[in-house]
Amino acid sequence: PIEFDRVSRSFGAVAALREVSLSVRAGEIVALLGPSGSGKSTLLRICAGLDEPSSGDLRFDGTSQLGVPPHRRDVSMVFQHFALYPHKTALDNLTLALRHGRGLPKAAAVARARETLDLLGISELADRRPAAMSGGQRQRVAIGRALATRSRVILLDEPMSGLDAQLRVDLRVEIVDLLRGLGTTALFVTHDQAEAMAIGDRVAVLGDGRLQQIGTPDEVYDTPVTRFVAGFVGSPP
Ligand code: ATP
Ligand code: MG
Repeated sequence: PIEFDRVSRSFGAVAALREVSLSVRAGEIVALLGPSGSGKSTLLRICAGLDEPSSGDLRFDGTSQLGVPPHRRDVSMVFQHFALYPHKTALDNLTLALRHGRGLPKAAAVARARETLDLLGISELADRRPAAMSGGQRQRVAIGRALATRSRVILLDEPMSGLDAQLRVDLRVEIVDLLRGLGTTALFVTHDQAEAMAIGDRVAVLGDGRLQQIGTPDEVYDTPVTRFVAGFVGSPP
């Protein structure tokens, strides 16, 4: 499992995270839900090794990850504003991640990249550059790039922001199917309540840097434990 143990992170006077303790089981999909500025991206960045806690610990299967660099963590991240190489094709974007991130030899990387594009139903995008793709297609490629690495943990930071409602629904079904198929452990950030409920085995609600509640979608919706959760998610208390 992934265990955040009283993780705090301050930026000067701003407390982005306050003693967040959260455990994610292997193969589980946890939706991180919270308003803008509640600390969602900070928590993911800490999990990926792109940032370190000011205090507290992060463990993978019982081993502290503090000071372990991102490429040694078996974690892939899909960012809020996807960052594909603009001058590379979809196939090259995936292949490069596998060669440099995973050290796969070229032929194996290309084969895995093609297989993943296939899995996502976007083989026809293989030779296209991001500029020649729609927003949804770019996001699929970015998600494919993360999935292709077969990391045990995948962190998705609002991977569907900027897409229209129908496309979001379609894509979230696909993402969940793929994650389940691969048995990947996932943290999925969103500020959309319906999306969190649809995607998460459990939903973790962040407010003001604190973990307000974690539970199944039904638990969080039906029995919010703080006024904040009630106001943000659940039925009125
Ligand atoms: P959003 O939904 O808008 O993406 P978020 O929940 O992801 O918000 P974070 O990006 O984690 O929120 O930010 C939490 C708080 O920490 C905010 O007040 C933010 O301004 C602050 N913060 C985050 N990163 C930094 C940084 N590098 N330097 C200073 N303050 C930061
Ligand atoms: Mg964010």
